[in-house]
Amino acid sequence: MSLPTTMRALRLHAVRSDAGPEQLRVDELPRPDPAPDEVLIEVGACGICATDVHVLTGGLPHGPRLPQVLGHEPAGTVAAVGDEVSDWRPGDRVAVLMGRPCQRCGYCRIGRENLCRDLVVPGIDTAGALAGYLPVDPDLLVPVPPDVPLHEAAIVTDAVATPYHALKRAGVGEGSIVTVVGLGGLGMHAVLLAKLSGAHVIGIDVDVINLERAVAWGADAVIDATREDPVTTVHELTDGGSDRALEFVGSAETADQALRCVAPGGRAVLVGFGRDHLETLPLARFVTQELEVAGSYGATRQDVGELFDLLEDGRLDLGRSVTDTTDLDGAPAALRALETREGHPIRTVVTDLR
Ligand SMILES: [Zn+2]
Ligand SMILES: [Zn+2]
Repeated sequence: MSLPTTMRALRLHAVRSDAGPEQLRVDELPRPDPAPDEVLIEVGACGICATDVHVLTGGLPHGPRLPQVLGHEPAGTVAAVGDEVSDWRPGDRVAVLMGRPCQRCGYCRIGRENLCRDLVVPGIDTAGALAGYLPVDPDLLVPVPPDVPLHEAAIVTDAVATPYHALKRAGVGEGSIVTVVGLGGLGMHAVLLAKLSGAHVIGIDVDVINLERAVAWGADAVIDATREDPVTTVHELTDGGSDRALEFVGSAETADQALRCVAPGGRAVLVGFGRDHLETLPLARFVTQELEVAGSYGATRQDVGELFDLLEDGRLDLGRSVTDTTDLDGAPAALRALETREGHPIRTVVTDLR
């Protein structure tokens, strides 16, 4: 079967600035061919992520290179393989890890490839996955179990794996008390995964619908930060603070809240990021209470593989995670809805990229 010679792709031509709004268009482009050591994926699903919004609003520390195809949360089907590739064949269902590490540096060698200094991120540094086809390094592919639909497989690589990695960084497990600050797409999956590990979960947000949804997903208590001081309430609910706190908003204020929520000996893990600086507790309290604060960035191949094992075993259910699907032409509206939180998306996935 021959492949089409062109494909459609959502491309960013200009970042939003004082001079004007962003320029985002669906373009017809030549279909890429895989290099001899690459696999060509027909993209079957690609999640829309808050990072995509940061890309088009100019909120990233660097990039993007323009014009750029957006998207970094894909799953699909192998369409063709380069001559040197033997492990994959057309028709294989795969999820694609979101960053391309160098595979040579010290971090890559110890399985911390999310910290690779030469990490190339699709949708920012190189062409992303909101396109009909995507050529990839086969080392970035993870097989998708037969019963897992591609729209769920896609979001595993980022929306689910990023909070999973953060929970491992935090050391959350059976019986621990964990506070989750920010109940959007990543925060909700942190709630789901923390409950799966046997933790007691307290959720904080400013949006009533997000709070109700967190309860439906298993949170033991939720706090509306517009109505009460979340730090005081966490300390009351827990008799002195939670063991762990995870932060998904990315502001100085919420990072400070996360750290203030933890009990002596506790650890706050920061996942959200933006332009703010970290300014928080007096050093004396931080030191004498032996508090810990850690960053958590993305996820590793190991994390994604573990999540597919949980899905395959039926222990993890992502049936409520994808709140909307759309085609490529609907992707700009989905990005706007994510930015304004209109319709309260957990994850919108583009499932028709032809
Ligand atoms: Zn993302
Ligand atoms: Zn590396």
